[in-house]
Amino acid sequence: MKNEIEIPVIREENLVAANMRREKYSITRDVQAREFNEAIVARLLSESVMKIKCETCGREFSVPKTEDTITKCPDCR
Ligand SMILES: [Zn+2]
Repeated sequence: MKNEIEIPVIREENLVAANMRREKYSITRDVQAREFNEAIVARLLSESVMKIKCETCGREFSVPKTEDTITKCPDCR
């Protein structure tokens, strides 16, 4: 009976390939995280603004929801 534990020999090129793969993966993950954050920011922005029709020229424009007293677009103010 063989008692030796066989340790798989990892060749250096495999390590390099593994590192590159890991690096590529982390870049992909960073990009995905950034895109995800941008999507959240875009959604928050779109949820925090509202469309208002200018009472002077009738043009629609966006204002923050906190600015609910605005009734005129920036051009007519
Ligand atoms: Zn206007």
